[in-house]
Parts: sequence; structure tokens; C-alpha cells
Amino acid sequence: MLNFELYNPTKLVFGKGQIEKLSELVPQGAKILLAYGGGSIFKNGIHQQVIENLKGFEIVEFGGIEPNPHFETLMKAVEVIKAEKIDFILAVGGGSVIDGVKFISAAVNFDGNPIDILQKHILIKENAMPFGTILTLPATGSEMNSGYVVTIKATQEKLASGGSALFPQFSICDPTVIQSLPKRQLQNGVVDAFTHVMEQYLTYPHDGYLQDRIAEGILQTLIEVGPKVVENPADYALASNFMWSCTMALNGLIAKGVPTDWATHMIGHELTALYEIDHARTLAIIGPNLYRVLFETKKEKLAQYGKRIFNLSGTDNEIANEAINKTVAFFHTMGIDTKLSQYTDDYSKTADFIVNRFDERGWKAMGEKQNITLEKLKAIVELSY
Ligand code: NAP
Ligand code: FE
Repeated sequence: MLNFELYNPTKLVFGKGQIEKLSELVPQGAKILLAYGGGSIFKNGIHQQVIENLKGFEIVEFGGIEPNPHFETLMKAVEVIKAEKIDFILAVGGGSVIDGVKFISAAVNFDGNPIDILQKHILIKENAMPFGTILTLPATGSEMNSGYVVTIKATQEKLASGGSALFPQFSICDPTVIQSLPKRQLQNGVVDAFTHVMEQYLTYPHDGYLQDRIAEGILQTLIEVGPKVVENPADYALASNFMWSCTMALNGLIAKGVPTDWATHMIGHELTALYEIDHARTLAIIGPNLYRVLFETKKEKLAQYGKRIFNLSGTDNEIANEAINKTVAFFHTMGIDTKLSQYTDDYSKTADFIVNRFDERGWKAMGEKQNITLEKLKAIVELSY
């Protein structure tokens, strides 16, 4: 096993009705920026619950954080925080609101031009503004990690960053909130979390036996509850297992002591930046084709995955191939299309565009073995058409 340090200071408060604990979780006397998205929290009653549970606190509201949050929007929140002398941020929403708040938290006290945090990938290790979250969409794990992804609208770039100062102080995860989610977002949540596990699991054989077993447990749980929770989000057993699986998929635990890939996410971000395809759907488009192009690198792990997750039999080569087909079939069961041409007609130059961009950024060696060259990148994207 590789050496590792495990640091995760987020207090996770999980379960029905836990929003009642909000006033004990926020710092006493804090002036709070309540950050949210496009308004779903007004329709499902979460906004009202937040206000009821923050009686006595001074609150300033900042709405309009869009899906795949924009740098330009988030900088407006930074101005509000400075003007209003805010000292704590409460993010109420899905991954986009929570990620957006992480960037706001980083930018408020940043000494320099905040766009550099994104474009120069500056990790924030101190001086971030403290924040907590109320999760409304299980998917990203952002409620219990220190990473985020922000889009610069002006340049059509979607960039990931993070830092140890950007963990939420607390996150309230009430599985009953998923009842108001559209099917599309429930489908997305399952596939995003599934791919998070794959990025940390589907690499090469190693001696992180426990990490593999935990990862496989999350994959199996998502396969078991995923299709059902889309049909019946009011079922608490399904909702709670779905929500906890999403958090566990990306709270850092399963990545400790093992190699990780993350190239599917890096390529997927480009498809969202170019075509505004939902994050999870970009992963379903790219992931299986990345496994195909990287077959030689990943075949042992694909065979393990095929045997343990799908009970496949045959030669290791056959199992590894079939495991990729089963993954695609699972995404289809989840109602997710897996070809770029099913989302846009304008795809023929996508591979060249992404290759040029990664070349300019110096991203010429991705993946757990750093063997995803620009040539392989082109093959992966073209196979995804
Ligand atoms: P999202 O973009 O936060 O939300 C998608 C939509 O769902 C929004 O329109 C939102 O509406 C709506 N919604 C949220 N909760 C709802 C509820 N309870 N009822 C009804 N509608 C609800 O989706 P997401 O998948 O959670 O986040 C995607 C972003 O996270 C992407 O930018 C992705 O790159 C990033 N990401 C981050 C990480 C990480 O580790 N930090 C990992 C993977 C992906 P409102 O805006 O009206 O609320
Ligand atoms: Fe993701």
C-alpha cells in the first residue's frame, strides 16, 4: 500500500430532519451569506426550513449560482461578502452551489487575481472563509471533500481545483430532500458517483485490498439502488443508501494508499464546457471508451471488476471486455445515453479541439500511469462520437 495521510475535518450530519441542527452548527453570532442556485429550494420548502432554523442570525441571500457554476457569477458573491461584512457562508444546493461556494471562500481573502486560482491551479491551504452546506442533490461528494470545479464563461474553460482549507465545516445530508429532484438529476447522481469510484478503482492491481473492497461495495450498492431510486425517490432506504454512497464515493477515503486516474473527469469537463452536457453524462460518454483505449493498462483490474461486480466468467480477456459492455449497459439502464452524437450534431472537431487545448495546458500525460498521451486522448474522444 502507498503511504498516505487522511485529513477530513467535515462534520457530516446525516438523516431525516437534521436541518433542525443548523443553528447549533453555524458559528454563533455569524453574519451569514445564504448561497443557492436557480430557485429549487423555494419550490421544495428547503429555503423556508433554513430560515426557520436560523432565527436570530443576520442573513444575506445570494441566489443564481448556475449548474457548472460560472466564475463571473461567483465573483459577484465575493463583492457582496466584502460589502456586507459576511463571516460565514451557507451553501444550500447540489454540487454546483457547493463547488461555487468553495471558490467564493477561496477568492474572498485571496491576495491576487482570483482567476489565477483556477487557471494556475492554486491550492488553497489557509485564509479561506468558513462555510457549511445543506446538500440537496447526492452526486458529487462535494459536501465532504475539498475539491471544486468552476467554469470561466468568457473562455469556455471548466477547471478543477481545491485545497485543504476548502472542506465544509459541516454538511447536513437529509435523504428526504431527493424527492423533489427531476429524474434526470437522480440519474446523473448515480452515474457521477459510480464514475468517481471507477476513477479511484479501475487502475492496475495493487495491494490496497481494503480500498478495493470498499470501492466494490459502493459500486454494488449504486447498481442495486440506482435504477430503483430514480423510480421511487420517496423510499427512505433507497434514498439514504444512494446519498451515503455518493458521499463515500468521493470523500477521500477510497483514494488513500492507491493509484487514481481522473482522466475521464478531465476530458468530460471539456464536453460540458463546449456543449453544456450534464457532468455525469459526459462521464458516461468518455469513461467506457477510455477503458477501451487503455485496455492493456487496465485489463487486470477490469477482469477483477467483471468477476466481483458482474459475476462474469471466461478468460480474463473476455471478462475484461464484457465488463466494459456491462458498464455501458448499466448507464443505459440508468437512462443515460453514452455517445456524444446523441447530445450534439456538432461533434466532428471535438477530439482535435480537446487535444489542442490539453497540449496548450501541458496536459500530455494523464491517468494512473501517466500514459494517456495526446494520441490516446484523440482516440478516446473519437471513439466516443
Ligand atoms: P447541480 O448542477 O448542483 O444541480 C443540477 C440541477 O438540480 C440544478 O438545476 C438544481 O436546481 C437542481 N436541484 C438540486 N437539488 C434539487 C432538489 N432537491 N430538488 C429539485 N431540483 C434540485 O448538480 P450536481 O450534479 O450536484 O453538480 C454538478 C457540478 O458538480 C458540476 O459542475 C460538476 O463538475 C461538479 N462536480 C464536483 C465534484 C467535487 O468533488 N466537488 C465532483 C464531481 C462533479 P437549482 O439550481 O434551482 O437549485
Ligand atoms: Fe464528478
